[in-house]
This record gives sequence, C-alpha cells and structure tokens, in this order.
Amino acid sequence: MIVMTPHATEAEIEAVRTRLATTGVHVVVMPGELTTAIGAIGDPAGVAELGLEGMSGGGRVVPISRPYKLASSELYHEGPTILDIAGRSVGGGDTFCLIAGPSTVETREQTLDVARAVKAAGASMLRGGAFKPRTSPFAFKGLGVAGLEILAEAREQTGLPVVTELLDSQHADAIARHADVVQIGARNMQNYALLEVAGKLGKPVLLKRGLSSTLEELLMAADYVLKEGTDEVVLCERGIRTFETATRFTLDLGAIPWLKLHTHLPVIVDPSHAAGDRRLVEALARGAAAVGADGIIVEVHDEPEQAMCDGPQQLRTRDFPRFATEVLAHAALVGRRPATA
Ligand code: PEP
Ligand code: MN
Repeated sequence: MIVMTPHATEAEIEAVRTRLATTGVHVVVMPGELTTAIGAIGDPAGVAELGLEGMSGGGRVVPISRPYKLASSELYHEGPTILDIAGRSVGGGDTFCLIAGPSTVETREQTLDVARAVKAAGASMLRGGAFKPRTSPFAFKGLGVAGLEILAEAREQTGLPVVTELLDSQHADAIARHADVVQIGARNMQNYALLEVAGKLGKPVLLKRGLSSTLEELLMAADYVLKEGTDEVVLCERGIRTFETATRFTLDLGAIPWLKLHTHLPVIVDPSHAAGDRRLVEALARGAAAVGADGIIVEVHDEPEQAMCDGPQQLRTRDFPRFATEVLAHAALVGRRPATA
C-alpha cells in the first residue's frame, strides 16, 4: 500500500497509479479524508523497484503482511466501511441491521405475510431464498424466478430491501434485477468463479462463511468479490462444523471481534442456521449483538411445521415482534440503533 502525502494532487496520485499499473499488479485507489492510499496487490519485489517513495506526492510504502488484502483493515486506513443499502446504514458501529424473512419463498401469501410482519416489528431488510442450495438433490430447490418476483412484490409493499441467494452464475441477471443484496451461501464461499460474478453485479454482497472455512479463508473469499471493483461486502458468521452435533453448527462468536480487528467490512451473524432450533435463536442473537455484530439475519415462518425447508429453526411470525424488541434492546445496550431508513 502506498500512502500519499496529505497534499498530493490528483495528477501526482494518477502518476503513481500509472507507474504501478505497468508492473501488472492489481491497483485500487482509496481516497480518504486526510490522505489517499493506493493498494498495489501482486509481486512486492516488482513494486519495491519502482522507487515510488521518491515520486512527487508519493509518501510511504507500507507492506500488507496478511494473506487477504482488499478485505484487510491494514489497507483501508481510515476506518470501517459503512454501506448504505436503500437508506439503511450497515457497519461502522452505530447501527444494528435486522434482516428477517422465510428460509424459502414458498408462496406469495406466505412471503407477503412474513414481510409485512417483520417490517411492522422494525426489521431493516427482508430475506428469502428463491434458489435454494439443498443437501439432497431431491429436496425442494425453490421457486426460482417466480420466487424473485414475489420478493420484488414484497419490497414494493413494505419498502424493505430484499436479500436473496445467488446460487449459480446462470441466474445472475435475474438476481441483479430483483435483489437489493446478493447473498453467497456458505456452500459457495469458495466458489471463486461465482464470487467474481457476484462482484460484478453492482449490488452489495452478503458473503456467508463456509461450513468448514477459516476466517482467513473467508477474508480471501471477500477479496475475490472486492477485486471486481465493489467495496460493498458484508460478512456473515453462520456457524461451522465442529465435533459438537447438539446444535446444527457451532456458532463462532469469537469470529466477530476477531473480524472487527482484521477487516474494515461489516460483520453480521445468522443465528438460525447455526442453531437449527428456534428455541436457541434468541439467545444467540442477543450474544451476536453483545459481541459487536453489525446485525443478524434470521428466519421467520407463519407455520414452520409446514415449511418446505428449515422448519425447526424458523421463528414463528407471531413471536417475531417480541424477539425483535429483545434483540434491538441488546443492541441498544452497546450503542446501536436499528438500521432503518
Ligand atoms: C440461507 O441463508 O438461506 C442458507 C442456505 O444459509 P447457509 O448458506 O448459511 O447455509
Ligand atoms: Mn434456511
């Protein structure tokens, strides 16, 4: 990373950028309030030979020692990234983003009912899967484009931005047309081609941690999205595989403060998929708020017993208002207001 001197001019910044580009490294210019930093990702020896510190306006060359680069807090030297998603502020420590909705869009009525209920209870965004990653190929895989259209109608009725999963690059155009936030599911965290497609859609990306991925691997996966030119990535801890089988996955709450130290990106928690049991979801959600998460994403269903996917972990719609009040009260204890428009 090259940190320019505080008075560097546009022309001086451009001259450094151009010289870096000749070596074939990936260049990102990051204007800050005081100084502009230029990230140069690639062969460090090639960059060292350029003599950038001697160029006019060129300040310090600071090596980035970590294996992840664009996601690293070393690179973004002027504080955390704060996203504005349809007026909802995500990241930065002042807000708590409550994303709620069904695991899967099953019918229009089901989705609209849940959307209206979560909106009334103070949710920031609506979640819902139209393309579902299923462990068995014989399980219900979602309504596809018809599901996206239902989500778009729910957004029209409630004003809530929609979060939905991109499962396959073939669906990228349809997802880009309908989604406000593009989710990459845990099973695709290391699908590098899909990460690059997601980074090109011009939408914020919600990147879930893989079932057995380390936090360094998560941040390198985020680099795949960020290198396509977006800075709008939200990370999501959703539980990992461990020897413990009592919960569906082991929620790694330590990941949140660790990520806060090592990345500038917002971090949220999915207590539903971690728990696998609705009776545990509120405790995990309160824990997420307490350890500094920027929000949560939870599943809600009118009749979870009839749900086509993930019934046992979905909160009942009628229980959601109390759940939301409790969790937002815990977020308020750590100085966060709801991320609403
Ligand atoms: C989901 O959020 O719908 C989902 C399938 O979650 P995950 O990818 O974390 O399993
Ligand atoms: Mn689910």
